[in-house]
Amino acid sequence: MTADGEERIALALGADWPELREAVARLCAGFDGAYWRACDGEGRYPEAFVATLAEAGYLGILVPEAYGGAGLPLRAASVVLETIHACGCNAAACHAQMYIMGTLLRHGSEAQKRRWLPAIARGELRLQAFGVTEPESGSDTPALRTRARRVGDRWVVHGRKIWTSRALHSDLMLLLARTTPLERVQRRTDGLSVFLVDLREAVGKSIEIRPVRTMINHHTTQIFIDGLELPAEALIGEEGRGFRYILDGMNAERILIASECIGDARWFLDRACQYARERVVFDHPIGRNQGIQFPLARALAETEAAELMVRKACALFDAEHPCGPEANMAKLLAADASWRAGEAAMQTHGGFAFACEYDIERKWRETRLYRIAPVSTNLVLAYLAHRVLGLPKSY
Ligand SMILES: Cc1cc2nc3c(=O)[nH]c(=O)nc-3n(C[C@H](O)[C@H](O)[C@H](O)COP(=O)(O)OP(=O)(O)OC[C@H]3O[C@@H](n4cnc5c(N)ncnc54)[C@H](O)[C@@H]3O)c2cc1C
Repeated sequence: MTADGEERIALALGADWPELREAVARLCAGFDGAYWRACDGEGRYPEAFVATLAEAGYLGILVPEAYGGAGLPLRAASVVLETIHACGCNAAACHAQMYIMGTLLRHGSEAQKRRWLPAIARGELRLQAFGVTEPESGSDTPALRTRARRVGDRWVVHGRKIWTSRALHSDLMLLLARTTPLERVQRRTDGLSVFLVDLREAVGKSIEIRPVRTMINHHTTQIFIDGLELPAEALIGEEGRGFRYILDGMNAERILIASECIGDARWFLDRACQYARERVVFDHPIGRNQGIQFPLARALAETEAAELMVRKACALFDAEHPCGPEANMAKLLAADASWRAGEAAMQTHGGFAFACEYDIERKWRETRLYRIAPVSTNLVLAYLAHRVLGLPKSY
């Protein structure tokens, strides 16, 4: 283990699930800044990192033991993702499997679960693609236009998705499509259904996947669906109830993304403080200046506060209590905290923040995503204003 590796392990320790944190940090020590910079520079999928995580069982951590997984609570997955990010790595290449799987687990039939979950838990099958967002509908999910029609004992799907991340690196995709036209439903959220699509069979035939180049190494894509035929058993749960199923999964997604933000914030703070102690300008370490200290201290306070909300949201989720407000607040606060910490780390590093070898600019770009995806800050605020404060709905 290198000194850098030991240091990264120490950085990730010190909270609940200590053994899990330590094991994940040890795994991450094999994937240093140079590895992530190379992936980022070449737009390369971090295949070795994902394979190592899958092999160690972390991607199946939430799959119940009855289906071959570890059967751990959401808090354990939250700790895994926080640790990965606190070590300077990035779980975005594979994190979705943890929360997409929940829709199958909670709403799939026994036959679907037996068919898919054990292979997912063993790391042999990847369920990493989540096709919800469309170019025209954006945040207004019920307005999506992808249409699945029942023809005999099959479903036939036409439509288009955007920002379907990891689709080129996934075997399966969870797809949200409208099965009853908007004008024939009582509530806009009715009439949407969820399907499990085997991409291995469909790509190159009725599905075309085109990568979208982005400012981070995210492997996101556009998906064109033209006459995709799905067997009846591809439908998850009841027809028309897909929006509710997806919402369930979205709470887990928000909590897990918030956990990554907490990890990012801790990584930024660690790197910035280390640099502030060592960098000498005007004959003293820059960390002695309050102009450097205060933004870092504020970011620390915000990170600790956001982490409490992440833990509360996890506790509610794991106790099977409603947790929409807490999951949303955790995501909002943690994404703001990691952004604030990233900004403070940028200022602390001065010009060197722009030198790729410090990794600050890469992490700063990566953590910026979470104020927009999987749900943007405004939409979280609108949800809290309407659903928690009881103010009139703005959309
Ligand atoms: C890198 C990346 C990866 C992604 N991965 C996935 C994925 O795997 N699967 C998937 O389905 N989606 C994915 N997304 C999509 C992501 O969830 C959406 O980008 C996000 O929900 C915002 O939708 P939009 O981009 O269409 O913005 P819009 O809905 O067009 O909104 C644009 C801006 O307007 C604001 N706005 C809109 N309506 C209101 C309102 N009523 N009040 C106040 N403000 C409003 C929004 O907050 C936002 O700031 C990804 C996006 C990115 C960038």
